Amino acid sequence: MKKIYYRRELAPIIDELKESNKTIGFVPTMGALHEGHISLIARAVEECDFVVCCIFVNPKQFNNAGDLKNYPRLPEKDTLLLENANCNMAFFPAVEEVYPENYIPVELDLGILESVYEGKYRPGHFDGVVQVLNRLFELVKPTHAYFGLKDIQQCMVVETLQRAYHPNTTIVNCDTLRESNGLAMSSRNLRLTPEENDKAPLFAKALKGICDAKANIPLKGAIDNAIAELESRGFVIDYIDVAKAKTLESINNWNSEDELVVVGAVFLGEVRLIDNMQF
Ligand code: AMP
Repeated sequence: MKKIYYRRELAPIIDELKESNKTIGFVPTMGALHEGHISLIARAVEECDFVVCCIFVNPKQFNNAGDLKNYPRLPEKDTLLLENANCNMAFFPAVEEVYPENYIPVELDLGILESVYEGKYRPGHFDGVVQVLNRLFELVKPTHAYFGLKDIQQCMVVETLQRAYHPNTTIVNCDTLRESNGLAMSSRNLRLTPEENDKAPLFAKALKGICDAKANIPLKGAIDNAIAELESRGFVIDYIDVAKAKTLESINNWNSEDELVVVGAVFLGEVRLIDNMQF
């Protein structure tokens, strides 16, 4: 596997792949890789001639300085995992490689995605996601880019960016990988204390409880029960809600014909967990 740090090393490799009409699969990550990330790499390896994984903790998408500082960084372990997964290239750019001095931020109207759920609770987060992915897509020129549905709102942001600026890249959204206890895998889980780690699966269980309540309990009651149960176990809730899965418009009762998604973001101590389930 090639390890690349600079744009000037990357560009000739990408040019050569393009000249020989190879497909380029791209998996952007912030590192501290787990099986969820590796499932994206595996899918890309299966579908593309050449797979690039980027590991870049993007300062622009953090609205909390402590979260950025404490974000786990494990480049050696990540390298081994990527080699074992048959990834072709790991790209570890520094901030100035991604955002050079003359960098002009891209403008994109995200509609309601900017003001609901993650957009509401992490102001500026999705603008940071748009900026970094736009730059990385310009550098890597992927034919296919792979994202996790664990971050369903991010998947919708990426699709908006793709339609506006990168129509030649196919976006592939992949299912969420979970621990056997139901907890969605996440790099941030590494920061849970052993006690928090024992409690964390209750979050996925509460979301599943809302899905299972459909048709038995009124929607608001099902959400309130889940919130009350989690709060009683020490979780602090940013949001738990049910929305249309295609648009993330919140719904008020179960009478919707649309495919639905239960979405949530909670704190356990210092660590913020997000998850969602479509049903
Ligand atoms: P991150 O490093 O957290 O920015 O994640 C990089 C990519 O991996 C994003 O597209 C995430 O949605 C995806 N991802 C994160 N956790 C999981 C998971 N448990 N299962 C599948 N994909 C995931």
